[in-house]
Amino acid sequence: MEDMMIIREIESKSILSKTGIPIADYVINPYVGCTHSCRFCYARFMKRFTGHSEEWGDFLDIKINAPDLIPQNSSRYQGKYIFLSSVTDPYLPLEKKYQLTRKIIEKLIPLKPILGILTKSNLILRDIDLIRQFEKSEIGFSFSTLDEKIRKNVEPFASTIKKRINALKEFNEAGIKTYVFISPIMPYLTDWKDIIQKTRDYVDYFMFENLNIAGTVWASVKDILEKEYPDLSPKYREIYFEDNKYWEMVEEEIIQYCEKEKLECKMYFHH
Ligand code: SF4
Repeated sequence: MEDMMIIREIESKSILSKTGIPIADYVINPYVGCTHSCRFCYARFMKRFTGHSEEWGDFLDIKINAPDLIPQNSSRYQGKYIFLSSVTDPYLPLEKKYQLTRKIIEKLIPLKPILGILTKSNLILRDIDLIRQFEKSEIGFSFSTLDEKIRKNVEPFASTIKKRINALKEFNEAGIKTYVFISPIMPYLTDWKDIIQKTRDYVDYFMFENLNIAGTVWASVKDILEKEYPDLSPKYREIYFEDNKYWEMVEEEIIQYCEKEKLECKMYFHH
């Protein structure tokens, strides 16, 4: 995989972008592409959008000047929610070498924003010293499963489940606000109750999103189902291509479960 990867260093024109995503005011994507290579990744639309013909996960553009694009003095971002990242993971393996995310967040500290980071990597622990310096921040870890075998199939290059849970614990113990993003909920593969129970002691709240097969995602999901979970193929077809109430039922079940367990839950379901 690594040797097939096409890595380019690029100069970006801007780095702080206004966003329409629900929680944030601005997003920062230090990289174009994502070498975590998740099979269900919704960000694959970026491939065509940025003129890449390689497979999703096989290319990475590194915005080498990204930290220089963060203003030194500005009151514009004070109290605003800045989110890393929406179409890449800010803690990809190559972040170890390039340290773009680290340099970016270091430069954000004096701007006093609310810092939000969502990742599937425990490399984020490296930056706990910087994250502590924000008055307001929240750190999220995504989980689509707790089963390492499934994880390897669907999120092949992200951190192991154990590493993510340990990182979550460390942030929580450091007094930093944390959440778990259960995403995507994959029918018959994601045991969301189990994820809740194994992480609830270390998080302030949960977020949920169901698997969205829009665009080219379905081709990738279909491929993995046929290869690894052939029994599930017809079930997925039924859920996605026939009129049924599967997601409404799941959504309702999650809401009721969270109420019963007295958990704060935010729903981001696509119907
Ligand atoms: S970590 Fe996020 S952006 Fe990267 S491939 Fe996985 S789902 Fe996509």
